Amino acid sequence: MGAAGDGGDVTAAVAEQFQRLYGAAPEGVWAAPGRVNLIGEHTDYNDGFVMPLALPHRAVAAVSRRKDHVLRVHSADIPGGIVQLDAAALVPLSDTGWAAYPAGVVWALREAGHEVAGADIHLASTVPTGAGLSSSAALEVVTALALNDLYELGLNATELAVLAQRAENDFVGVPCGVMDQMASACCAEGHALHLDTRDLTQRQVPFDLAAHGLRLLVVDTRVKHELGDGAYAERRAGCEAGARALGVPALRDIPYGELPAALDRLAAAGESGTVRAYTRHVVTENHRVERVIALLDAGDVRAVGPILTEGHASLRDDLRVSCAELDLVVTSATAAGALGARMTGGGFGGSAIVLVEADTSDATAKSVTEAFAAAGYAAPRIFPAIPSRGAHRG
Ligand code: ADP
Ligand code: MG
Repeated sequence: MGAAGDGGDVTAAVAEQFQRLYGAAPEGVWAAPGRVNLIGEHTDYNDGFVMPLALPHRAVAAVSRRKDHVLRVHSADIPGGIVQLDAAALVPLSDTGWAAYPAGVVWALREAGHEVAGADIHLASTVPTGAGLSSSAALEVVTALALNDLYELGLNATELAVLAQRAENDFVGVPCGVMDQMASACCAEGHALHLDTRDLTQRQVPFDLAAHGLRLLVVDTRVKHELGDGAYAERRAGCEAGARALGVPALRDIPYGELPAALDRLAAAGESGTVRAYTRHVVTENHRVERVIALLDAGDVRAVGPILTEGHASLRDDLRVSCAELDLVVTSATAAGALGARMTGGGFGGSAIVLVEADTSDATAKSVTEAFAAAGYAAPRIFPAIPSRGAHRG
């Protein structure tokens, strides 16, 4: 999609497009990546742990300041030309289409008291949209970083991510957690980001797949089942009910060793089997993040595979956010010899990840594609997730 490939000339191409659109060279070009989450799913609204890595796919934005309050945004990937807004009169939830993502960032910065006036923005992205790979966060973070640099706001990557999340939550109106924006802003090449979503403390965990002869495949199922939004709110509410009944601020506060006792208490308090299953998912998933980190720190990357598959079973059976296509990726990939696989992102479609020996990667991808064909599904899009750098000036 769009004009931005993965080559080093993307910055120049986007700058040239900017010049053609707005009649002058941009003040600068910035980039922010999409992400996949290795482990730690549906934990970020439970104050838990997540472990995303940045993809090489990224949003690239050419940006110049303006002296007035005119905000002009243009995407190489969306027909319809330049969208013009008033930076000083932005209205949350006013449905400005895709432009709400960059505009929401301007709004969030101004709401936080930062002196941001108008801007001309042209962007292009290679992050597949709506595939659970955070194309929206890439758009927000690239805008936030560009404005931070140009207006010399002095905000750090974490602060920019939080503002970008605010843009998506309160301006666009999507109740997402903070993982996507933090991943796009903070990830480092060759690493996964261990993030505590309660206090946003973080650590870069070495994740050099190539050095271990491994590959992590992303399988974009290209389906997005409609129940996604309501189901997300329902899972969130169920998890909050579990935490309330257990008398803790969030399910993150239940240690893994206390899970059986917590489940007994939920049953005694009359909480439904659903709330108990959601609780079990969150507590075991947080524990899986800790297990994966211990393995990566010990250099035992292969042993991560079965934990991914275990995580998938929990998302499928306890949280019930998977779907037939995602389940088929996991069963077909593991049957073909993959070390492990799981859905990644919110669920109900989108993408899965598969950990494979590098030399069996093509055969595994072929098996998954054949399984999709046999089931009558459209061919998935499969590509390697190479742990890449977070947002940066181009
Ligand atoms: P995801 O973040 O998983 O890709 P979302 O639904 O959160 O999915 O965000 C997708 C939306 O982000 C698109 O519908 C569009 O509004 C916006 N978007 C993403 N990439 C671009 C782009 N290159 N140009 C314009 N808008 C984009
Ligand atoms: Mg998104």
